[in-house]
Amino acid sequence: MDRYAVFGNPIGHSKSPQIHRLFAEQTGEQLGYEPLLAPLDDFAGFARAFFASGKGANVTVPFKEEAFRLADQLTPRARRAGAVNTLMKREDGSLLGDNTDGAGLVSDLKHAGLALDGARILLLGAGGAVRGVLEPLLAERPAALVIANRTEDKAEALAREFDDLGPVSACRFAELQGPFDLIVNGTSASLAGELPPLPEGVIRPGRTFCYDMMYAADATPFCRWAQQLGAAQARDGLGMLVEQAAEAFRLWRGVSPDTAPVLARLRSQV
Ligand code: NDP
Repeated sequence: MDRYAVFGNPIGHSKSPQIHRLFAEQTGEQLGYEPLLAPLDDFAGFARAFFASGKGANVTVPFKEEAFRLADQLTPRARRAGAVNTLMKREDGSLLGDNTDGAGLVSDLKHAGLALDGARILLLGAGGAVRGVLEPLLAERPAALVIANRTEDKAEALAREFDDLGPVSACRFAELQGPFDLIVNGTSASLAGELPPLPEGVIRPGRTFCYDMMYAADATPFCRWAQQLGAAQARDGLGMLVEQAAEAFRLWRGVSPDTAPVLARLRSQV
């Protein structure tokens, strides 16, 4: 049976094994998928040993940049993101690195009925997750994409790096001019129970769509804040997780799973 895995540290919390098992059941693909705790001091050695027999792997925190360096070839979106969340062994034994996080976010937003063409988008954060979604979001031709981050220099550097792809700029939190059609929280503030310092005017009640890349059983601080201000929707990132997994599954197996029942199953468990 073809062998797949997710590498992370820690890894016990990962929902990827369940998602890929459900995809395999649904599509009739014969595969095994296991969570593997990779060592912090030798990710490359660990991954190479796995690929002696393994066919593909997802990569999560904190190894996405190391996976980028390990890959022999990169897809254009992985090269642009500077990070790899999906590895695939090719026929010749070489490793292809891809990044499906951004495509996962865009798919989830589209399934929710959001039109990104011509939208004003506010992206919060300037870490790996934001870097991974910039190219796919700009490919949807928004009217404007503004990045705001606690460490302002990082937002400015990212905006400069991606400004050949579309109308992207950086802004301080205090100077944000709303409202926006879409606000994506790509910070890890929710993990600490915190909220970036957003002015209320960024939300237009009944209109603005808010999305937290973090997912949790209860509403995240960002989703609670958005609901209180009357946002049209406040969603967490569970759909993005399922959609990025579906992109990886498609790359490995050449088959597109139906994500809706898998997302519904995960939602019923949280
Ligand atoms: P990084 O560590 O690379 O970046 C963290 C970012 O959050 C930085 O911009 C940092 O700002 C900012 N930040 C951290 N704490 C706070 C705070 N208290 N207030 C304001 N800003 C803060 O993390 P990632 O980019 O890898 O991940 C970000 C989030 O996205 C995580 O919650 C992760 O779980 C989620 N994610 C979800 C995915 C999904 O499939 N749903 C996929 C990938 C990520 P500064 O630069 O100032 O330090």
